[in-house]
Amino acid sequence: MDLDQNKTNKIDIKEMTLPELKEEMKKLGEPAFRAGQVYDWLHVRCVRSFDEMTNLSKALRSKLNEEYDAVVLKQEALQVSAIDGTRKYLFELPDGNFVESVWMDYKFGASVCISSQVGCRMGCKFCASTLDGLERGLKASEMLDQIYAITADTGKRVSHVVIMGTGEPLDNYDNVVRFLRMLTDENGLNISQRDVTLSTCGIVPNIKRLAEEDLSINLAISLHAPTDEKRKKLMPIANQYSIAELMDACKYYFEKTGRRITFEYSLVAGQNDNKEEAEELASLVSPLNCHVNLIPVNPVKECGLPGSSRERAGEFAKWLEKKRIQVTVRREMGRDIDGACGQLRRRHADKT
Ligand code: SAH
Repeated sequence: MDLDQNKTNKIDIKEMTLPELKEEMKKLGEPAFRAGQVYDWLHVRCVRSFDEMTNLSKALRSKLNEEYDAVVLKQEALQVSAIDGTRKYLFELPDGNFVESVWMDYKFGASVCISSQVGCRMGCKFCASTLDGLERGLKASEMLDQIYAITADTGKRVSHVVIMGTGEPLDNYDNVVRFLRMLTDENGLNISQRDVTLSTCGIVPNIKRLAEEDLSINLAISLHAPTDEKRKKLMPIANQYSIAELMDACKYYFEKTGRRITFEYSLVAGQNDNKEEAEELASLVSPLNCHVNLIPVNPVKECGLPGSSRERAGEFAKWLEKKRIQVTVRREMGRDIDGACGQLRRRHADKT
C-alpha cells in the first residue's frame, strides 16, 4: 500500500485497514490484539489523540506519537441552523486546505454529508464547489475524520452518510472505495452499506467499476437534464458520456447491486423545468427502478442561474407522478445557514 505521508513525514495510521494495522503492529513487535485496540480507539470511539488510548502502555503511546499521525481535522467554523438544527462545519486539513461537511438530524437518525475532494474539476454551471477548480482528492482518513470529528462534537451516533459535499467522488476513486470499506467495516463505525449514498455527475466507467466492488451502497446520479443537448449546457461531463451510456451504467449498477438508483434533478427556471422536460425525463427513467429527487437550484452569485420557484417544483413533480415516476421535492435543510454547497469554504478563502 502506498501510505500517503503528510507534511510531518509521519505515517497516517487512520488510513490503515485493520489487517494493515495488524501488520504494522507486528513490525513494532506488539501482539496482534493491539491492532484491534488501536483500531477501536480510532474508528469506534473516535478519539482525537494517541494519549487518550488509555489501555496502551505509555511506551507504545509515545512510540505512536513519534512515528505516526492520526489525521485529525480542526474545526475552523460552525454554523447552526435556527430552523432545524442543521450544522455546517468548516474543517482544516493537515495541509492547511479546508473542506465543509453538514450534519442533519432526522427522525430516522443523524446523517452526515461529506466532501470527497478539495474543490472540483467537473465544472457544473450551477455549482459553487467547482469555481476555483480542483486542489486535490481527499484521503480515506480525511473523509472518515469528517464523520469522527462531528460525532465527537455532537455526541450522537451517525447512522447515514452521503457523499454529496464538495468534489466528485468517482474522480477520487481509490480513496473513496477505501473510505467506503472502512466506514462500513464491522470493526469500525459499522455503518450499514444501505445507509450510505454516493452522488456522482456520471463518470460512466467508474460507475461500472463501483458496481463490481461488492458494495451495496446507494447511487445517486446528478442528471439535471433529460437530453444530451440540454445537459451539455449545465454539465461539461455530458460532452464525455452520453445520457444513453449513463443509463446503461445505471442499469448495470442496479443489476449488480439490487440498489435502486436516485436521479438528482436541480431545477433551473426556464432551462430544464418545463412540462416538455418533465415528460422527456419520465420516458428516460421509467424503464429503471429509480427515484427522482427534485430541488430548485440554489442560486450562486458567480453562476447567475435562477432557481425555479417551489410552485414550479411542485408542478414538475406532478407531471412526473402522472407518468408513474416516484419523485420527491427535496426539503431544504438549514436554509438559513446553507447557501449552496461549497460556499462556506469560498467565503472563508475570501476572508483569508
Ligand atoms: N459531484 C457529485 C457530488 C457533489 S454535488 C455530483 O455531481 O453528484 C451534490 C449534488 O448537489 C449534485 O446533484 C449537484 O449537481 C447538486 N448541486 C450542486 N450545486 C447546486 C446548486 N447550486 N443548487 C442545487 N443543486 C446543486
